[in-house]
Amino acid sequence: MFTLEGKKALITGGTRGIGRAIVIQMAKAGADVAFTFARSKEAADEVTAEVEALGRKALAFQADAVDAARAEEVIGEITDTWGGLDILVNNAGITKDTLIMRMSEQQWDDVINTNLKSVFNYSKACVRPFMKKRAGSIINISSVVGLSGNAGQTNYAASKAGIIGFSKSLAKELASRNIRVNSIAPGYITTEMTGKLSDKVMESINASIPMARPGEVEDIAAGVIFLGSDASRYITGETLRIDGGMAM
Ligand code: NAP
Repeated sequence: MFTLEGKKALITGGTRGIGRAIVIQMAKAGADVAFTFARSKEAADEVTAEVEALGRKALAFQADAVDAARAEEVIGEITDTWGGLDILVNNAGITKDTLIMRMSEQQWDDVINTNLKSVFNYSKACVRPFMKKRAGSIINISSVVGLSGNAGQTNYAASKAGIIGFSKSLAKELASRNIRVNSIAPGYITTEMTGKLSDKVMESINASIPMARPGEVEDIAAGVIFLGSDASRYITGETLRIDGGMAM
């Protein structure tokens, strides 16, 4: 396992699914972890207790990822409390799926703002502390849908493809300052977001995956730990697919 000993990380959307696994696995790998959430205060308390039981520090912030001013406040509080930040994981995301004929402007805006504007908000707020240290790793959770497209997900695919373009551009802007920016494109991962599908739908999803099964949240956390650790110190602007071969 790659180590995050001595590092401090912030994960957006850390109360459920992939984000929660990232928080716990990063703490297991040695990091102190801060995380944000939108609504689930109770889940945030559980995650905080779990991190502290692992002997690491935790900070939880109720913060809508769409709110740029709140992103500045969150990063400010973390750097004031911990004296710095090493890793940002932009994970918060939603789906509002429907065919374009039925997609409302609201459904488009909600998904683009929550999934893509949030990445701008938190990345921008981290740049100053990262530049000061001349070090930092930003890891943005995209999706294979951003690479391949998916009917019924024009808003989601646009947000996830946007994350990849954003990450490559920011990687070029910040590489000379030793700040790395990478994306992870998960395939089909079992979470609340994806867990409500029928056996029949699951069968057809499994048939589209060379490894013939969905991934686990810990599979994504493993990629985050690698990209956050010094083991990946020469990797920037990369998109790491973790998808059982789905989008190759
Ligand atoms: P999830 O189980 O629905 O969890 C989403 C997390 O994001 C929750 O902690 C939620 O907090 C938080 N969140 C939602 N809206 C937010 C907002 N406006 N501000 C702050 N936090 C917010 O989702 P997931 O399946 O773990 O997905 C996590 C990421 O992986 C997303 O970016 C998703 O697009 C991506 N992804 C997932 C899959 C998959 O198969 N699951 C595949 C590819 C990519 P609250 O509960 O407090 O609202």
